Formats: sequence, C-alpha cells, structure tokens
Amino acid sequence: MNRIAAANPLFYQTSAETPMVAKAEGIYIWDEDGRKYIDGCSGAIICNIGHGDPGVLAAINEQAKSAFFTYRTQFENRPAVKLAQKLVDLSTPGLDRVFYVSGGSEAVESAIKLCRSYFCSKGEHGRHLIISRTPSYHGSTLGALALTAYAPLEIPYRPMLKASPKIPAPYCYRCHYQLTYPQCNLACAKALETAINEQGPENVAAFIAEPIGGASTGALVPPEDYFAVIRDICNRYGILLILDEVMTGFGRTGRLFAYEHWNLRPDIIALSKGMASGYYPLGAVMAGNELVESVLAGGGFPHGHTYAGNPMACAVGLAVLNRIVDDQLAENAAETGRQLLSGLRQLAGHYPIIGEVRGRGLLTALEFVADRESRAPFANSDQIFNLVTREAFSRGLIIYPRKSINGLAGDHVLIAPPLIISAAQVDEMLERLNETLAAVTRLLAD
Ligand code: PLP
Repeated sequence: MNRIAAANPLFYQTSAETPMVAKAEGIYIWDEDGRKYIDGCSGAIICNIGHGDPGVLAAINEQAKSAFFTYRTQFENRPAVKLAQKLVDLSTPGLDRVFYVSGGSEAVESAIKLCRSYFCSKGEHGRHLIISRTPSYHGSTLGALALTAYAPLEIPYRPMLKASPKIPAPYCYRCHYQLTYPQCNLACAKALETAINEQGPENVAAFIAEPIGGASTGALVPPEDYFAVIRDICNRYGILLILDEVMTGFGRTGRLFAYEHWNLRPDIIALSKGMASGYYPLGAVMAGNELVESVLAGGGFPHGHTYAGNPMACAVGLAVLNRIVDDQLAENAAETGRQLLSGLRQLAGHYPIIGEVRGRGLLTALEFVADRESRAPFANSDQIFNLVTREAFSRGLIIYPRKSINGLAGDHVLIAPPLIISAAQVDEMLERLNETLAAVTRLLAD
C-alpha cells in the first residue's frame, strides 16, 4: 500500500498510517492503490456537498482570474458582500451581521470575544464567563478548548487558561441525574439557572451549546423543549445564547441551520465546516445589529485573522451555499437521514453491541456498549474504537469514531455522509456497516 513513508516529516494528532489519496468525487474517495471508499463521514463532517463539485470548481477558476487574496482592511470584495447578504437573508431575524474567519475554532474564539466586547461596550465589564456543557466540543485553540469538555483533547492541556463553568449536556441515554425524560423536568436545562446564580449573574456573559451534539456526544438531539427552557433562562438573566453550528450548519441536520428545528432565536452563531464544504478554509460568526453596533460604537472589535473574508474563500462559500439551497440538499439530508436512521435501528436489532442509535438528518451516530442492559461502555475504549474504524475502513467505508470519556459518554461513531447521497448509496453504506458490525461482533467474541 502507498502509505506515508516513515521518513516523512509531517506529523499529526496520532501516528496512525493512512493511505495516500488519489482522487475524490461525489461521496467516494480513491487511494493510490485504486481502492474505493464511501466517505461515510464527509471527512470530519465537513464535505456537505460532496467531492469534486463542478460548480465550485468553476467558481474557483473564475475567482482565480480576478483576485485570489486581498486583505480586508485594504479592499472589500464582491463575493464577501454577496455571501454575507445571502447568509443574512437565509437566517432567522436577529442574525443581521457577519464576521468572517477561517475555521470552527476561530469562529468560537470570535464569538467569545464578541460577547465580551458587547458587555464591555455596555459598561458591564464583569460579565466575562461563558457557561458551556459536559460533554461538548468547541474547538482546539485554547479559548475554545476551555469551553470544551471532551477529556482526550483537553486533559493534556489542563489547567486551561480559564475553564468555563459547565452544566450537563442533555444526554438522556446516560443522564447525569439518572432520570428519565420527561419526568426529569429537564433538570439539565434548568442547571443553567443554578450555574448562573453560582457564578453571580453579573459575571456571566453567555451560554454556548452545540444545537445537536457533534463529536463529543455523537449526534445528540436534545429533548424537544430543551432549548425553549434555555432561551427563557438566558432572557431572564440577560445573557447571550451562542449556538455552535460549526458541525450542524449548512443543511447537515435536515435544515439549513439546526436552530430551525425549534424556531429558536440565538444571539450569536458560529459557523464553519459545511460553509465551504472542504473546498477552502472558511468560517463566520453571525450576530444581531444591536449587539454589533454597540460593540463598534464602544471602541470597535479588536479581533481578526489574516485570511478572514478573502475573495477566494468567499467565492467558494457562495458557490457552496448556492448548491445547498438551489439543489435542496438540506431537504435531501432530511429524507435520506430518515432512511439512514431507520436502517441503523434495524442494525441495532441484530447487534447487541449497539446501545443507542441517534441523530437527525445526516448527522447520525451509533453508541457502543459492552452490555446493553446496564449500558456499560467497553472497558477498553481503544479496542472498540480501533476495531470498528479498521473493520469499516477495510470494507471501504469511512466513519468517524470517538472514544468514551470517563463514563460521561460512551464510544460512538458518527455516520454523516455528504448531503448529496442518494437512497441507493445509503443502502450501500448500510450494507458495508452491516458487514463491519458482523466482523466486529465476531472478533470481540474470539
Ligand atoms: N465546534 C464544533 C461543534 C466542532 O464540531 C468543531 C470541529 O469538529 C469545532 C468547533 C472546531 O472546528 P475546527 O476544527 O475547524 O477548528
């Protein structure tokens, strides 16, 4: 196999060897040995419109003829303005302004700083804390990591610059309070009020959450009334609600943005991943006019990254957004997502190692358990993690595994193919998953 040579100077998060990619098209990727894989997790849940999209390639060529990069303090560019206007038009009222960045962690960092600038502009300098959830994932830079509660990625860097106060995620399968919905009376949402009072409301700026949990909790869909309770608490204490839509945005969950599932009005959203679908680094923060004007009038927003809002990134973002909207890819995600979830539930009927199937649209997950009755996770998280990924990969299926985190969450895999997937391709993916699960079950029994 054409693997990266040991002498290769590159290094990453892990030392695992991976094949050399040769090409990628639609929902498929080929390696240099001619092996074909289904991209069952859109890379890192990013390639929403699939690979090699002709419209995006044409837009890249076209933009390259005029200006690839100009710096935002020196020139504005048409693609940046058009994309911002389109984002505002497609968003819920109250998200009227767009601030560009180049990735998800940058978007979360920018959201934190925007909140803090807002309260400073109003003279409320004490409001600096952002409450977040356990488990959660908001990015790998130190600020975003301080909001994150996903042990494998944040423990090595403790103490954090300043870890955020955390409340339990609405993880019903492993309820923090050992209660059952709806008798729990949404204790996990009401925990926000307790946390605000513990910290002192005058110190709290915002609450941040992934609307549907991604990497740390595995396609965790909150109870239907969860965010109504959260919104009400934020309103009563005058704190901002930030939704981290980095993974869920741009059609992934069957709506353009996940907040649409509950008619929710966030104050700030963080975007990236599907925004440029892997064709270029791009992200954004969106917020309301009143907030942004207050920040600008209060001395400006002293924050920014070099690549932000450059012409090529925005031309790509515009082509991607047009593709998602014009070809109704969110609607396709909703429909094929229902088919995928129902297929995954059927697989759960055959394989007791599946504890729970969850998700919405094309953000779905399987959580694995050693014992379905007690919901006990596997004692050796690495074993199941490596086994499932390896067996799927050897059958030409790429899925996105996450390890369990100290009993807070189980081992799970995300299954989140590009939103262009067809019904026949969903079946093809389910068949490979079936073979994978059969092999894993056999190997675990040996
Ligand atoms: N926020 C969420 C919800 C994510 O899923 C991720 C990445 O997986 C990030 C933020 C960080 O994005 P990036 O890896 O582009 O910095």
